[in-house]
Amino acid sequence: MKWVNVAAELFLGATCSGCQAPSLRLCSRCAAKLVAQPMLIRRPSCEWLETWVGATYEAEIARIILAWKDGVATQLTRPLARSLAVVICGSGFGPSTLVPVPSDPRAVRRRGFDHTASLAKAVSKLMGAPWVTRKLLSHRGAAVDQVGLTWAQRLRNAEGRYLAAVGAEPVILVDDVVTTGATLDEAANMLCSSGHQVVGAVCLAHTPKRLNFGKTLPQSGRNY
Ligand SMILES: [Zn+2]
Repeated sequence: MKWVNVAAELFLGATCSGCQAPSLRLCSRCAAKLVAQPMLIRRPSCEWLETWVGATYEAEIARIILAWKDGVATQLTRPLARSLAVVICGSGFGPSTLVPVPSDPRAVRRRGFDHTASLAKAVSKLMGAPWVTRKLLSHRGAAVDQVGLTWAQRLRNAEGRYLAAVGAEPVILVDDVVTTGATLDEAANMLCSSGHQVVGAVCLAHTPKRLNFGKTLPQSGRNY
């Protein structure tokens, strides 16, 4: 263990967001886990929306995403954006507008930042033109916190949550974690009904429960 990391824990209380080991930043082991392995996940409830993820939401990955999402470790936006850029390259999606799935406005206020908007913006910056980020979706109102809800409750909760700007551009939805996919489905349907061409969705990770896996691709050779 490097002396600087020991000193960081002793004097600053700094630990790795993934494994809690003393460190000023993500340790090398957890940073390696962030290297995305692009996976296409299949969801019987919404076959038409091609959804790609970079990891399974568990252990260190889950802690890293939670620390970032809760505003405790916003410096992780860039490494997470690099991971999502790899997912996009693995998906084969062509240049499109990245549309962050809106968070509950109360959660954004509590966290002090809009994590999906920050992530999408960082990804489009990494990938360069013609990739752009636009907030084409807005939250209709405060939604119920989904923690602890059943599968059926989550599906019902997603109904009527978003408003979409009218347009006709190819778009890719950006979110942090896919659970049931109900949120993505609702967002995609709203964009479609407003004239947009929804190319697919990309997320940092997914919870494997009740999801069927598709193909797994090797890591993209592109370096962002
Ligand atoms: Zn670590």
